[in-house]
Amino acid sequence: MRVHIVNPSHFSYGTGFITPRWMYVLAAATPAKWGDPVLSDEGLEPFDPAQLQQGDVVGIGLHTGNALVGYELGQKARERGAWVVYGGSHPTLYPDEAHERGGAHAVVKGDGDVAWGLVIEDCAGGAPKRVYDGGRVDAGKFRKARWDLVPREKYCWASVQTVRGCPKHCSFCSVWRTDGQEPRQRAVNPVIEEIVELRRLGFKFIALADDNFYPVTLDDLKAADRRKDKTRYNELKALRDDRFELMALMAKLPSDLNFFTQITMESAEDPEFLQAMKDARIRGALVGIEAVTPEGLKDVYKDFNLAGEELVERLQMFRKAGVYVLGSFIFGLPSDRPATFDATAELAKRAGITFAQFVTLTPFPGTLDFEKWEREQGDNMLMVDGVPVSRHWLIPQAKRPKLLTPHPVMSGEEIRLGTQGVWNNFYSLRASWKRSNILKAYRNRLAFVVASKVMLHAFGNTGLSTDSARASRATQLGGVGFSLLQKMFAAKPMPDLQVPTS
Ligand code: SF4
Repeated sequence: MRVHIVNPSHFSYGTGFITPRWMYVLAAATPAKWGDPVLSDEGLEPFDPAQLQQGDVVGIGLHTGNALVGYELGQKARERGAWVVYGGSHPTLYPDEAHERGGAHAVVKGDGDVAWGLVIEDCAGGAPKRVYDGGRVDAGKFRKARWDLVPREKYCWASVQTVRGCPKHCSFCSVWRTDGQEPRQRAVNPVIEEIVELRRLGFKFIALADDNFYPVTLDDLKAADRRKDKTRYNELKALRDDRFELMALMAKLPSDLNFFTQITMESAEDPEFLQAMKDARIRGALVGIEAVTPEGLKDVYKDFNLAGEELVERLQMFRKAGVYVLGSFIFGLPSDRPATFDATAELAKRAGITFAQFVTLTPFPGTLDFEKWEREQGDNMLMVDGVPVSRHWLIPQAKRPKLLTPHPVMSGEEIRLGTQGVWNNFYSLRASWKRSNILKAYRNRLAFVVASKVMLHAFGNTGLSTDSARASRATQLGGVGFSLLQKMFAAKPMPDLQVPTS
């Protein structure tokens, strides 16, 4: 019996941007007696079901975006006589769907760190359970990824997780409901050991793949400190202290390392934290800006963010502190108007944002927005080929409506075109070259422009799903770009690198 772990994808680029960390974590959770699992990332190349033998176990990780292609893969695996097991955020929400559509024998809800090993044993015994509740495991039980299995030359960046969960409650996001609002923060040592292992292999760009790298704000601490009972304050202070300890050790690592993470905007008002990030070479951060007006922020329950000029100033603080921002924006909010597109593009430029992504509002399962939408539509939900659009991930891409939630003044096509216009504007050759002036060396500026164009082709083509020729061209361009970036981002391996101590 062999164990297979598969990351389904609609597109295969030959080279991937970031390592799909969960696969290497599940590899570590695979009991040693079954040998090393076979890892297949369809972002690199399509999975071939012909390699499966009767009785093999196939673990398929799904999020909503790859559910349909993952179900097809699972059915083929089942036809080959393999045990089919689904896990990930989507099957956690819809375990029955994975059985009905994807030929599942078993579904793991929640974290797989502990449950995956149990499922394999049950499959080997011929009697897997229908559903396993992996729950939210304590940070102490998070597995260290099996980086010894990674095809180094196939990825530009590696990924390490330091914390799961986010204390916020944005209406379009499911993270705080699936991973929880209480941060589960890993101890410093296993994180540093993973980073060192990756640098030994020759990765010098590492994403800290966290829900929110800044789980405790200064306001949280102040509020806890006002309470008579100091238990909560001490817990939060310990979490914050651990962040600083981690960043102090990262600062001792080789100077060619570069980290990227995901944080909330409040961190910009914490100069001590920003300085520690800079020292640790956390050079970039994804910041969910979402909207540039107070009304837009209210639409998504994100009024802890700033708007207008205050927002520009706040974002510039990251830049001044040497942390480059990948800003994330949402279009199609009820308060958006046709002028919102240009206003957003303009603000993104003035705020000194280095990279940006612009998405259209999509109600994803597990979010408050989704529940509200489903409730409001009731029996009037639009159907496509017998599938309600509230199950939009089950509708083939080409037939999927562009905009799911009706907008008070704009059509779906208007919003799509407006969003595409902002992508094209932000990533024009001229604008990208201008932004590359944050780097000195010509080679690095060139890498920056290539990365900008790859970003546009791989993620910024909002019309992809209706035009397969464009999709295929974008995939080819994305593949060439990723391959070029992989060479530019690779470092000479350092097999003797030691783990720093405090
Ligand atoms: S969008 Fe970001 S800040 Fe908001 S809940 Fe999700 S992870 Fe947290």
